[in-house]
Amino acid sequence: MTLTAQIEAILPDFSFLIGDRELSSVGAPTLEHHYPATGEVVGTVELAGAAQVEEAIAEARGAAAEWWSASPAFRRDCLARVADLIRSNADDLTLISMLDNGISAQGLAGIAADIFAYNAGWADKLMGEVIPTWPVRSVDYAVMEPYGVVSLIIPWNGPLMGFCTTVAPALAAGNCVVVKPSELAPYTCLKLGQLCVEAGIPAGVVNVIPGDGVAGSMLVSHAGVDKAHFTGSVSTARQVIAASAATVKPLGLELGGKSANLVFDDADLVPAVRAAVRGITALNGQACTNGTRILVQAKIYESFAGMLEDAVRGLKLTDPLVDPSGVGSVISAQARERIETAVESAAAAGHGRPVFGGEQIPNAQGYFVRPTAVIDADPDSQIAQEELFGPVATVTPFDAEADGVALANGTNYGLAAYMHTNDLRRAHRVSAELQAGMVWVNGPGALLPSIPFGGVKDSGFGRLGGADGIREFSRRKNVWIRV
Ligand code: NAD
Repeated sequence: MTLTAQIEAILPDFSFLIGDRELSSVGAPTLEHHYPATGEVVGTVELAGAAQVEEAIAEARGAAAEWWSASPAFRRDCLARVADLIRSNADDLTLISMLDNGISAQGLAGIAADIFAYNAGWADKLMGEVIPTWPVRSVDYAVMEPYGVVSLIIPWNGPLMGFCTTVAPALAAGNCVVVKPSELAPYTCLKLGQLCVEAGIPAGVVNVIPGDGVAGSMLVSHAGVDKAHFTGSVSTARQVIAASAATVKPLGLELGGKSANLVFDDADLVPAVRAAVRGITALNGQACTNGTRILVQAKIYESFAGMLEDAVRGLKLTDPLVDPSGVGSVISAQARERIETAVESAAAAGHGRPVFGGEQIPNAQGYFVRPTAVIDADPDSQIAQEELFGPVATVTPFDAEADGVALANGTNYGLAAYMHTNDLRRAHRVSAELQAGMVWVNGPGALLPSIPFGGVKDSGFGRLGGADGIREFSRRKNVWIRV
């Protein structure tokens, strides 16, 4: 029995969670699911259509009043039980997530559990404000209320994080949810939905309907949805914004990035190179926050580029189910072709000199892309400006601090930015100047559930994480009482 066959046995054996019903064979269109590291077909995904969208929204609407009127302590305890169940199912969730998208998920279930535990703590701490009034004697207060039914549209690259960072705060704030995982990675979210039901969350509060843009679009335009939260690419987000117009739907948008990684000449080079490599390899090059535009100050450019070239050449490609220590494959053959073509075109146009790692391909049928640093990249070229969503980063020199900041901000994206420096004043000064939702100085931080996460410019709006995550799924009501 192959490894993937063993894991297939733990995949959820249903296609949709609607209410507390686990449904399959509903006559919906289907899609073969491939394990990206081997190309093997490991399942058949049913794609939600109008019937499943209508049913899921109806279930969520039916449950909304009960969930919001339940005691905050009940909601808190439900979410805390989900956290416990994620912990006790961590091994299965890790494997399912890897089978979903071919990305090593070691350690992520613990973080996912922490996100539910953290948001459980918010459920009984939602408070309003009393606001002073004049000129008449009155009492004015502003309370936080849930939207009601929220649709959550999730990409394939991080189903564990995508589900937990949206579902947990949405539920803590008192909403019911219809989750639409990507058609390319449906299984982790179905398993997490099942755990929500097992935790005692009432039927209809959490519904999970994997599907493609057909279901996604309906979940944005439907009058029965009070808010839509979308995580994905900028191009799909433009369609989401258009689809939201008819019902003036409030949106949250967590979109792509092409994040700068500024390395100043006073930085410690070894950790800076290590962080640069991580910007190429994290999630097999498919993390929205990867620092894929490496900008290095002129004085250290040659030595940094040399060290980075050596590090990239030493990278190995692996199947994460066999050996999670290497760089895994990208999501599909189509993605591989798009990424490789972009690198070849950049080299042919003289926009940079690619240096490759990953000499050995572990499986010829897998969708492996060699990790790549494009040295001496033209900062205005396509390869340095567009999100590739593969294990590729560009490397470009700059002279003065202001030149580095200008290059870092010279993109339509604004998700994350990284900086390496030992000058504390510079760290604060440059952080203030960077157009990004998140700035990491001297290496990436931990994925703490208490930290606000999100972008500016084309990288979207709204925030997940911390108190901001609760606010994202709450709306204000003001009450003025004349006394
Ligand atoms: P995508 O835009 O292709 O799809 C995202 C989701 O939208 C999927 O569930 C998809 O089925 C759905 N969808 C497709 N068409 C739709 C439509 N017309 N209306 C509504 N939904 C539709 O993105 P992807 O390839 O799944 O994910 C990669 C992208 O997501 C990258 O750009 C990455 O940077 C971004 N991302 C951002 C974050 C973040 O937090 N900022 C996190 C992860 C991924």
